[in-house]
Amino acid sequence: MPAAVCFVVLGRQGSGKGTQCQMLTERTGIIHISTGDMLRAAVEAETQVGKQVKEVLDSGELVGDELMCELLAERLTKSDVSKNGIILDGFPRTTQQAEALIQILEKLDIEMVLAINIDVKNEAVIERMLLRGRTDDTEEAIKRRLELYEKQTAPLLEWFNEKGILVSIDGGRTEEEVFEDFLSQIENSSN
Ligand code: ADP
Repeated sequence: MPAAVCFVVLGRQGSGKGTQCQMLTERTGIIHISTGDMLRAAVEAETQVGKQVKEVLDSGELVGDELMCELLAERLTKSDVSKNGIILDGFPRTTQQAEALIQILEKLDIEMVLAINIDVKNEAVIERMLLRGRTDDTEEAIKRRLELYEKQTAPLLEWFNEKGILVSIDGGRTEEEVFEDFLSQIENSSN
């Protein structure tokens, strides 16, 4: 038996990853690890990392792989992880991060179970992001983040698919409808 299980949620910015993960945590206790939230908290607290990444976040660019992998690896050593299992939101975002994740999980004896892609089309997510009103959601940053998604993150769908652990669900429905699918994918894969 591995020490813990790991799920990954994929999908464009604004596809509802954070919302679905929050609902999952409430229902099952699985721990939601959002690298975006971690970075925003660091900026807010004005830590060294926070100062380092603030401009990157505001511009919509990606934080460097090395720093991201370090931050994630450190987070995964906390004791809540092995107790409840985790769902990663916003990581991995590049193939390098995905390769590094495999190593990190192996070291900690965590099993990567499933990647769930929440599928929502480009036009729909732009509208959603403008509505959520986060301070880094300027039109320019949104455009840049979606560009980077296509270039750097979309190829990960194939990467997870080749490992035989990818499922896609239709994210263009109500939160509750999407959650029904989301939860059943998680539950089916854990049986
Ligand atoms: P969004 O899905 O709208 O991009 P996130 O909260 O996931 O929002 O991420 C916000 C920002 O944090 C990203 O635009 C990026 O600058 C940075 N970030 C988060 N996760 C990563 C990651 N795994 N690699 C590089 N940068 C990241």
